[in-house]
Amino acid sequence: MDYKNVTIAGSGVLGSQIAFQVAYKGFNVSVFDISDEAIETAKERIQKLKERYKKDVGATDEQVNRAYESMSFYSNLEHAAGNADLVIEAVPEVMDIKTDFYGKLARIAPEHTIFASNSSTMLPSQFADATGRPEKFLMLHFANEIWKNNTAEIMKHERTDMDVFDDLVEFAKQIGMIALPIYKEQPGYILNSLLVPLLDAAQGLLVNGIADAETIDKTWMAAMGAPRGPFAVLDVVGIRTPYNLSKAKGENGDEDAKAIANFLKEEYLDKGKLGVESGEGFYKY
Ligand code: NAD
Repeated sequence: MDYKNVTIAGSGVLGSQIAFQVAYKGFNVSVFDISDEAIETAKERIQKLKERYKKDVGATDEQVNRAYESMSFYSNLEHAAGNADLVIEAVPEVMDIKTDFYGKLARIAPEHTIFASNSSTMLPSQFADATGRPEKFLMLHFANEIWKNNTAEIMKHERTDMDVFDDLVEFAKQIGMIALPIYKEQPGYILNSLLVPLLDAAQGLLVNGIADAETIDKTWMAAMGAPRGPFAVLDVVGIRTPYNLSKAKGENGDEDAKAIANFLKEEYLDKGKLGVESGEGFYKY
């Protein structure tokens, strides 16, 4: 099936990027958010993306203006999604908010509409029933700065129709993404299933005094031909995120994770070293 009308629900950090990318690639985009105020913020956010597209992907003024002008904005879900072929959901990463959203969407969306969630940490089976159309529901997970980091992980759950899955893989390619099909649900998709254990292992080596961060990174980069090592990656992610992850694991009885969380707090967070965003983390920027 060819999608024409695409609705993006939630126009925060990721939703605004997804909306602009889809419009830039020529689809009719409707943006939905909960209030007129949130919509005004979205418009400002999207206006700022124009410059990024010009700088990072060589877009022309005409292209970015055409993309922006082709978008419509709504704080009424029925107006935003009443005509949608595809709804991409990027509302907050809170179970109740997402479940409530799908309940409302199920009531107003046309029967043929496909629902796709951009959730980073939740699984499609958690919402499949709330959508009222489990066979037309699946995940479409983007990375931050979608125009540069253009991966799209498309993940089905047991009841997703295979044709729906294949169509969404095609759509991901049409909007300029590297489409990454995932046939069974998996927490963390592919990327975080690989990355999180690597980052945990690197932090374990550091905290246990096996080697310093630079040596660990150098090892990984030289041996794997990788442009960055795990600590440089952690600086980009921001040290708050690995801290929160290790803290949660520590609270569940993982002693190694507890030691990592304490170390990150004392040596980095308490000293204002948050990673690239604060100008210093494991490295200075
Ligand atoms: P955000 O907080 O920046 O944006 C959320 C938006 O949803 C806000 O504009 C908010 O007003 C709106 N919203 C709140 N309640 C709503 C409702 N009931 N209906 C519609 N809109 C509502 O969040 P974000 O970082 O853009 O994350 C959104 C989703 O994208 C999450 O599921 C997250 O896991 C996923 N994601 C985020 C990133 C990232 O780097 N930020 C990367 C990949 C995936």
